[in-house]
Amino acid sequence: MTKEHGFDTLQVHAGNTPDAATGARQVPIYQSTSFVFKDAEHAARLFNLQEVGYIYSRLTNPTVDALAARITTLEGGVGGFCCSSGHAAQIMALFPLMGPGLNIVASNRLYGGTITQFGRTISRFGWSCKFVDFDDLDAVKEAIDDNTRAVFCESIANPGGYITDLDAISAISDAAGIPLIVDNTSATPYLCRPIEHGATIVVNSTTKYLTGNGSVTGGCVVDSGKFDWSASDKFPSLSQPEPAYHGLNFHEALGAMAFTFHGIAVGLRDLGMTMNPQAAHYTLMGIETLSLRMEKHVANAVKVANWLEADPRVDYVTYAGLDSSPYKDRVAKICPKGAGALFTFAVKGGYDACVKLVDSLELFSHVANLGDARSLIIHSASTTHRQLSPEQQEAAGASPNVVRLSIGIEDADDIIADLDQALAKATA
Ligand SMILES: *Cc1c(COP(=O)(O)O)cnc(C)c1O
Repeated sequence: MTKEHGFDTLQVHAGNTPDAATGARQVPIYQSTSFVFKDAEHAARLFNLQEVGYIYSRLTNPTVDALAARITTLEGGVGGFCCSSGHAAQIMALFPLMGPGLNIVASNRLYGGTITQFGRTISRFGWSCKFVDFDDLDAVKEAIDDNTRAVFCESIANPGGYITDLDAISAISDAAGIPLIVDNTSATPYLCRPIEHGATIVVNSTTKYLTGNGSVTGGCVVDSGKFDWSASDKFPSLSQPEPAYHGLNFHEALGAMAFTFHGIAVGLRDLGMTMNPQAAHYTLMGIETLSLRMEKHVANAVKVANWLEADPRVDYVTYAGLDSSPYKDRVAKICPKGAGALFTFAVKGGYDACVKLVDSLELFSHVANLGDARSLIIHSASTTHRQLSPEQQEAAGASPNVVRLSIGIEDADDIIADLDQALAKATA
């Protein structure tokens, strides 16, 4: 498969060549922990990264590699690797860049779990995060200091119907000489290709739309290959001898593949956040229909959001795909095929009405997930965003009177009918 093929072709074929041993047309599930070396010399070459091959499935596995290659192709990157979850992918993306005392600058509009991961948990590694309003470009510039090693945001931000101006943010990270990491989970590479807007690294939770049916957790990190790790002394793990890999200088030895190889040879080797081949298989199956599903997710979301906006029981709807959205122009620029299928709306009647709404829905599932074929709902303030302060909840678009919808691929009329009957009960 070449990069000249269209997206629909690549989502089916990229990373999949008929199995050399059997001719199997589908990517086989290589359910094997280890791989036999041809001889001692072959083993040594693999361990020295002089030859690419399989050693042990904590590092690489053919099924998992096929998935990484497919997502890397769809994102337009040069290399990538899979992880056990989206959260694992975020840590793995930061790992080669960070060290004690260093920080990242992140948007304050992020998935709730990411705000907790960056706001609290990474401090145990001696890393810290400054959360900033990414619409305030001066604030982003000011937050970056000598110890900042990455800028982090979501393309379509979960859950508030917010679109990041990736071109403006990447201009700032470029000027500061640090990489931009974009979480593309809510958009998927079908709706948004962050690398085309200046992203250095793209992370995806494959748990969501890429698998598309709520069956397995996973994550993927894709490198654009465009960042010059040796331009400053900020990234010694990549641009200087890496003590954790017998002094190998990854950038010197591997060029544009430095970040990918470091992620596998040091990151997966030592942190072990590996995807298993069964999970990779489910996600490979899911990705084959990604564009078809995203078209339907978006068409349904547009219908449902417009219906809700016109309903007197609803205060407001934050879907960037609405004509009334302040981010309408950004949709045209950043994700012209659509603003995704994830949005929030505020119910008249506040917290109590939201809880009643969630309990009254029949077609929707009340779950902490998104990007499923099924329509899903969650009241963020009492669940995913519960551990945040009221200010953080508000900044993340998860105020107590707001529910988040992940619109599925059912009939739009059925989705609307379910919301209609539940709103009647919630606001009676
Ligand atoms: C779900 C999600 C994550 C975390 O992914 P997991 O696979 O659940 O670990 C990160 N970012 C966004 C935008 C998500 O929706």
